[in-house]
Amino acid sequence: MTAKKGRVFSGARPTGRQHLGNYLGAIKNYVAMQDDYRTVYCIVDIHALTTVETTKDLAFNTQEMALDWLAAGMDPKQSIIFVQSHVPEVMELHTILSMVTPLGKLTALPTFKEKVRDNPDNVNYGLVGYPVLMSADILLYKADAVPVGTDQIPHLEFAREVVRSFNFHYETDVLIEPQAVITKIPKVLGIDGERKMSKSLNNHIELAATPEETEKRVMSMVTDPQRQRRNDPGNPDVCNVFTLHKIFSSENEVESINKDCRIAEIGCVDCKRKLAANLNKHLEPFRAKRKELEGDPDYVRDVLLDGAKRAKVIAAETMAEVREAIGFYGVKG
Ligand code: ADP
Repeated sequence: MTAKKGRVFSGARPTGRQHLGNYLGAIKNYVAMQDDYRTVYCIVDIHALTTVETTKDLAFNTQEMALDWLAAGMDPKQSIIFVQSHVPEVMELHTILSMVTPLGKLTALPTFKEKVRDNPDNVNYGLVGYPVLMSADILLYKADAVPVGTDQIPHLEFAREVVRSFNFHYETDVLIEPQAVITKIPKVLGIDGERKMSKSLNNHIELAATPEETEKRVMSMVTDPQRQRRNDPGNPDVCNVFTLHKIFSSENEVESINKDCRIAEIGCVDCKRKLAANLNKHLEPFRAKRKELEGDPDYVRDVLLDGAKRAKVIAAETMAEVREAIGFYGVKG
């Protein structure tokens, strides 16, 4: 076995069943990275508290998301897979990092402004500190690399600045500056063909949906808006159905759809039917694995608790170094 390149950390909020956007934008990449890196993947349930109105479904959504992750090939033998709140050291590091973080930097972040716009009645302290907690996640596990979409680049740059401030302030080098690894598919559009696929916009296709549900969602996808009638020629370059064909259909099929759509040889209904069939075929092994895992409710729990145990070992080491660098009373130095 060749040596792995370094440690990768990534976290995602517990949003329950995952959709094609999550799969193509994150999960597929998480699975691929397992071979090359020491991977640490976290369901960041503390982050979720900043925006959720109720925690009634928090535990259920955590379980559902973990099921999807595991069924999609995230492997507890290769990766540490765990829940953020199971390793409370992250909250200690968050508080410590908050002392080397100028408030103005946080309120200037575009994501903060966006969150304020989306949650005007709940601009809580945690919302401002979100990037500090995210930095704590990454730095606690001494990640060398973090897979991010382009919208997360400012947060990663922020984490790098936090490292520099901390290390400078306490004259140490215990924290490591993480590198961004830009995800290959940063934006999968929803079935509206317009906005990023997202559960909250209800424009998503769930990985664990039944083949019938999947077909129904695909058949409702918006195609080339200029193509009004069956006999109009279409433009695959602006069609989200075609974008997904390029991912889930064979090269030959993609080639013929590309040609036939432009001369109105194939209509949108047939084109979508083909996509639904190919998508369902692609998801077959995932769905079979998910069903198997659902039959053993303790399995997911055991994976996550074991992941937390392994994550805690790294967290404890980092925190010992951090406390020593600060010079807290009673910590040997
Ligand atoms: P979070 O805000 O915690 O990242 P999300 O559910 O929004 O939770 O996203 C989880 C992961 O899936 C992130 O890496 C995100 O970039 C990716 N993702 C979500 N929706 C899409 C999409 N429509 N296209 C591409 N990637 C997506």
